[in-house]
Amino acid sequence: MSLNNRKASKLPTSRIQAVLNSPRKIKNAQAPSVKRPVSSTSISVTREPPGGKCIGTKNKTSTSSLKRKNNDTTKENGRNVRSIPFDSGRTTQRAPTGGTKKSINVRSRIQYPPPPPQPPSQAEILQEKNAILRDEIQQLKKERDEVTTLNIQSRNEVQEMKRSKDEYIAEIAKIGVRVDNAQARKREVEGKISDLRKKCEVLSDEKFELTSQVEIYKKEFETAQNSIQEQDEKMEYNLNFSQELTTKLQEHEYLRRDLHNLVQDLKGNIRVFCRVRPPLESESDDLADLKYPKESPVNRKISLTSTTTNYLGRKKERLKDYEFDQVFGPETTQKDIFNEVAHIVQSVVDGYNGCIFAYGQTGAGKTYTMAGPNNPTPETEGMIPRAVRLIYDLIQNLKAQCWVFKMEGQFIEIYNDTIRDLLSTNPSHSNGIKYKPEHDENTGTTKILNAKTGKFTNRILFDKNFVLVNLDSPDTLNRALKISAQNRAVAATKCNARSSRSHSVFMIRLTGINENLKEQRVGSLNLIDLAGSERLSKSESKGDQLQEAKYINSSLSHLKTVIEKLRKDSNHVNFRDSPLTWLLKNSLGGKAKVLMLVNISPLESSRSETESSLDFATCVNATH
Ligand code: ADP
Ligand code: MG
Repeated sequence: MSLNNRKASKLPTSRIQAVLNSPRKIKNAQAPSVKRPVSSTSISVTREPPGGKCIGTKNKTSTSSLKRKNNDTTKENGRNVRSIPFDSGRTTQRAPTGGTKKSINVRSRIQYPPPPPQPPSQAEILQEKNAILRDEIQQLKKERDEVTTLNIQSRNEVQEMKRSKDEYIAEIAKIGVRVDNAQARKREVEGKISDLRKKCEVLSDEKFELTSQVEIYKKEFETAQNSIQEQDEKMEYNLNFSQELTTKLQEHEYLRRDLHNLVQDLKGNIRVFCRVRPPLESESDDLADLKYPKESPVNRKISLTSTTTNYLGRKKERLKDYEFDQVFGPETTQKDIFNEVAHIVQSVVDGYNGCIFAYGQTGAGKTYTMAGPNNPTPETEGMIPRAVRLIYDLIQNLKAQCWVFKMEGQFIEIYNDTIRDLLSTNPSHSNGIKYKPEHDENTGTTKILNAKTGKFTNRILFDKNFVLVNLDSPDTLNRALKISAQNRAVAATKCNARSSRSHSVFMIRLTGINENLKEQRVGSLNLIDLAGSERLSKSESKGDQLQEAKYINSSLSHLKTVIEKLRKDSNHVNFRDSPLTWLLKNSLGGKAKVLMLVNISPLESSRSETESSLDFATCVNATH
């Protein structure tokens, strides 16, 4: 509600009160005299109750009332004034005694008309009063209507305001919820901020640590870089030095190879050693009179004293001296023998061919020397496993000089001029099959081949009856040795001690390639356990034995001839005369290193064969 409205609503209340009071007062009054005030002040007249007091009140008149009063005043100025204006500030005085008393205070200037008018009659007064009241009622009605309108407006406004208030309350509630949410979100965000701050602190600490670590690493990196640079320089220096050393090593290797070969040449490409085996525990026979006169650090001589009785019954002693490249007595170990054999093995690795024969009568110790006893120990194992092991060691060392070697082996047997494969799974197949040795003149190597095609199985090439073993490990060698020994034993039972009637040949072919030097080396080593050299008496020689003896004698005789011719550097060496010499052609001739190991039995009963073997060996050695 506006301020004007509020004023308007107050105004009628006082007026209504005044009007309502006045008729009653008028009714009780005894013709009160009324004088109209000149100013805008109305007069209220009260009839004083008997014995009481009467209090006159001053009321402000309404605008309409004032207007009307002014009209009255105008009439007064026009000498039609019927009332006297009174000062509004004056009050009615209380009468000192009982009875009605009218008192009028006049403060303003009173104008007295020249002729005194007749006082209005009671009716006129009432009429006038009635008119005034009617006006006032009209006015009041108007004001009441205004008030009613204002009330309706106010109510509407109040309702509107209530609605607004409800809306505001709802809005405030929503805002409250939003505020709550916002506060919750704020708390959440604050929590997150707090967490993030903590994390930031942790990260900051970590960053600090990492930064200090990075600093440390930087320094370490710098140190490492310097160190790497130093190492690089050292490495370059070492590389150059290493290359120099490799070149020198290569030069030394060539020098060593040449010198070794020269020594072997000086010693003789064909040498003869004599080995006397010790008497066995099982042997109770007399021992032959063998002596080993020592004139130099190396034992070269052996003497055999034989006692003969002439027809007169006189005993006659005959001393026969033999000299070879070296003589080994009964106490000689396998290792001692191998020290000499090792030179030939070295030559084979250097790219030469080599051949080692064990010659002698049956039981003289050929198989023991070449392969070792049946159950060998590291001390008793023979030349074959020792030679293979030395080859492994030597080719291993040569890897440093970029040499890569391959070692292959064949185990064969020559019986009655027939070649037989000792590694074949079926030894009986060898009967009647003629194997042909094939020589490669470029490499100086030999292979045993027949017409049948072969296939590789488990590192072994089977040619139905022919086997080439890739000797890539000592294990393979041991397996091959075992199989060959078994095959020889099988044949021995079938063919009456055939093992001593055949030549066994273990052929090693060694191929080395050096990619850096663009060089290739091929060397062959043949380790031969010859057939027993004993001669059969004519009476015993019959049937198979006679046949065997013929073949053996023939092959051994041809071997002796070939070696003799080779010693004499003859251009006419007929290797083809015997399968044995033909097989060993490349390992006997040229620059090949040949070693004949003559095995001797210490027994007196073997003296004759001992003498024969020593004579054979002397023939081989004769052209020394
Ligand atoms: P071969 O092969 O010449 O017929 P073996 O090698 O079979 O002779 O030797 C005959 C026997 O003499 C075998 O029992 C062998 O163990 C033994 N024997 C040979 N040489 C030696 C030696 N140096 N030391 C010990 N025993 C040997
Ligand atoms: Mg033997």
